[in-house]
Amino acid sequence: MAHDKTTDALGTPADHDGQKEMAASEPAGGSVRDRASGTHSPHDWDERARQCERDATMYPDEVVEALIDAAEAWKNAGNFTRAEATIRRVLAEHSGDDAVELAWPMLIEVWLAAGKDEQARDELARLSASRPSVAASTFTAELLEAHGDYETALEWAERAVIGWAGSMAGAVERMSRDPGPFAVMMSGVGIRAGLRASLGYEPDELDRLTSRARDAFAQQLDALAASHARSGPKEVRGLFWPRGALEEVARRWPTLVPAEVVESGRYWTDLEAQYTAVAAEARTTRVTIVPADPDALAALALEEKLPVEDNDLRWRHREAQRARKLAISWPPPRNGPCWCGSARKYKKCCGNPAIR
Ligand SMILES: [Zn+2]
Repeated sequence: MAHDKTTDALGTPADHDGQKEMAASEPAGGSVRDRASGTHSPHDWDERARQCERDATMYPDEVVEALIDAAEAWKNAGNFTRAEATIRRVLAEHSGDDAVELAWPMLIEVWLAAGKDEQARDELARLSASRPSVAASTFTAELLEAHGDYETALEWAERAVIGWAGSMAGAVERMSRDPGPFAVMMSGVGIRAGLRASLGYEPDELDRLTSRARDAFAQQLDALAASHARSGPKEVRGLFWPRGALEEVARRWPTLVPAEVVESGRYWTDLEAQYTAVAAEARTTRVTIVPADPDALAALALEEKLPVEDNDLRWRHREAQRARKLAISWPPPRNGPCWCGSARKYKKCCGNPAIR
């Protein structure tokens, strides 16, 4: 069959009947639908906490983030003792890691949830005196906002903005090399503007700048969408290997997933960037992604007597997985489970601009 070639970051797939196919990855142990549902019982959170702890063992580069997510899941499960113990473990064992500073705001969050308001206030005061980073300040503003304390949240959002402003020297050069901190700063400015609006303040210059920047960005996206509306596909479907299957796929079919892709750890970050680019390019497009299943793909290949490298075969596998209601709408909610199957929140996993 003829394909309009739209190769993805991994050199895999192509267009098929007007639907761009993106890449192939794997399914995790649990049901993707359960993970995508968004509402969770204490039992679900308990499961998630255990999954995050397994992730912490499996992904040494992300051990601190995974343990902080585990602590959050224990907190949501109502197990405050275990949540606190997990944070204490991060602080004791990973003090050299940059992400460890996020453990302190998480400890505050656990205490607030546990009703230990006095301890939380003491810790906030201590954190405040310790010259926290922009990321820690932004995180603290977010948690206080979620807790309904807009006044204090705003103080922390201000601190984040001031912290960023204080490090503006050489900022443009740094941003072009590493846009992650810039995204954190933008999110801090956005949180500040939202808090000020919630508290009924008149918009100040920075709020207006934020909304102007948002409007300008939206206009650019509208223009892009208009230029693509005439020819662009309405739905883009991607096939991906979830976290639980990638290593196995690389062993079975190195032509589909080369070992270096697994080693570099860039598989999901590349896909996330690709989905983001596709969505920005054609704003009206719905991005639907489908977890692939190595055994099901192998069975289909056997049945059709085709190699797994065959794009049409993988397209049919994707549609079969879709028929099994495994498709996920991308992007997932920020606070929902990540699409990649990590059992972490999207905003703290593939949706975290700092790790893209
Ligand atoms: Zn993820």
